[in-house]
Amino acid sequence: MSAREFDLIERIRRRAATARDDVLLGIGDDAALLQVPTGQTLVVATDTLNAGVHFPVETAASDIGWKALAVNLSDLAAMGAQPAWCTLSLSLPDGDPAWVDAFLDGFTALAAMHGVALVGGDTTRGPLSVSVTVHGFVDAARALRRAAARDGDDVWVSGTLGDAAAALTQWRAGALIDSSLRERLDRPVPRVALGRALAGVANACIDVSDGLLADLTHVCVASGVGAQIDVDALPASEALRTGFGGDARRHLQAAGGDDYELCFTARSDERDAVEAAACEAGVAVTRIGTVVAGEGVDVRGSDGAPWGSDSAGWQHFA
Ligand code: ADP
Ligand code: MG
Repeated sequence: MSAREFDLIERIRRRAATARDDVLLGIGDDAALLQVPTGQTLVVATDTLNAGVHFPVETAASDIGWKALAVNLSDLAAMGAQPAWCTLSLSLPDGDPAWVDAFLDGFTALAAMHGVALVGGDTTRGPLSVSVTVHGFVDAARALRRAAARDGDDVWVSGTLGDAAAALTQWRAGALIDSSLRERLDRPVPRVALGRALAGVANACIDVSDGLLADLTHVCVASGVGAQIDVDALPASEALRTGFGGDARRHLQAAGGDDYELCFTARSDERDAVEAAACEAGVAVTRIGTVVAGEGVDVRGSDGAPWGSDSAGWQHFA
């Protein structure tokens, strides 16, 4: 390890402010010592963001820091877990301390909001890449698994869909990017409270990262069921409605991705419990369809006609 890397790690250690009693040993030794609460199961998820692949190269360092943790917390949320700890692996082209400080501004802001302690990591020289691992707890019997959707369940989604993809569309077109859409792309809000409130209420759950239809298809395949979705029931923000109409908007909502909302299924007699969970978490939820016997995701408009079946790229969801 070079002196420069040591300085960076020391910088990171000083900024890893969240203290937790269950961290017996954090940054500074060969490994961390962590205490899992009795009766709980450890939940672990990891996700990597590569420059130019997972975020535009000119993305602000603080936004990269926020998003690197947010996409991981979103995975814990989708399991119904309570986040506790994380590790951070940084590959940096030039080890610029100012960049690391700005990165940590975003990263630590979100970590503090969820009481997550940074307990270790790795710092290397290379193309810009950020890999985070998060650890949390859940009662395994209540964990929200992809394979738990059942014929007759309602299909729900939290928040609104398509905003992040809309920002990316505007960015690719070289157009002015609506600031609230850009916020959804750069600073996704992981639905941690909702996931926890849904544990024991919902059946299957997944976080929407690749696009609603792709991710719902994962749930259907894992559960051995199909789903019927009303594309016109998908929730849209004001900003999305203002900037995009008709099929362009439906496409962003159904297939855009980077939403980090939760898509989940629950028995229809759990509707009040789902609404109560959403209210407790302070997040809106919308019923967008039904789980059915069979396979594939059947997408229809509010008029009942199949949607998108004549446009390339849709068939593989059916
Ligand atoms: P080792 O050679 O044992 O891998 P390192 O020099 O890589 O040790 O790391 C020293 C300590 O600093 C370890 O506790 C490690 O977890 C921590 N660390 C290194 N990089 C980071 C980082 N980017 N974020 C948080 N902790 C880090
Ligand atoms: Mg190391």
